[in-house]
Amino acid sequence: MSNCKVPCLYCTTENEDTAKTCSNCGMELPDSHPHSGDYRRKRFKWGFWFTVIFCLVMMAYLPR
Ligand SMILES: [Zn+2]
Repeated sequence: MSNCKVPCLYCTTENEDTAKTCSNCGMELPDSHPHSGDYRRKRFKWGFWFTVIFCLVMMAYLPR
């Protein structure tokens, strides 16, 4: 993605990733520091595999 917008967790308003708080509701935005990108990617990867495994388990359990 070319533009880095950070969606607010509370009101889903998109803020610049340099902003620390939401421009709409003033709540703290999720970390947007450069080094947190790795952590987020890692977490996304784990979430992805968890979803895949969850789907496989569900496919095995649920009758077709
Ligand atoms: Zn907000």
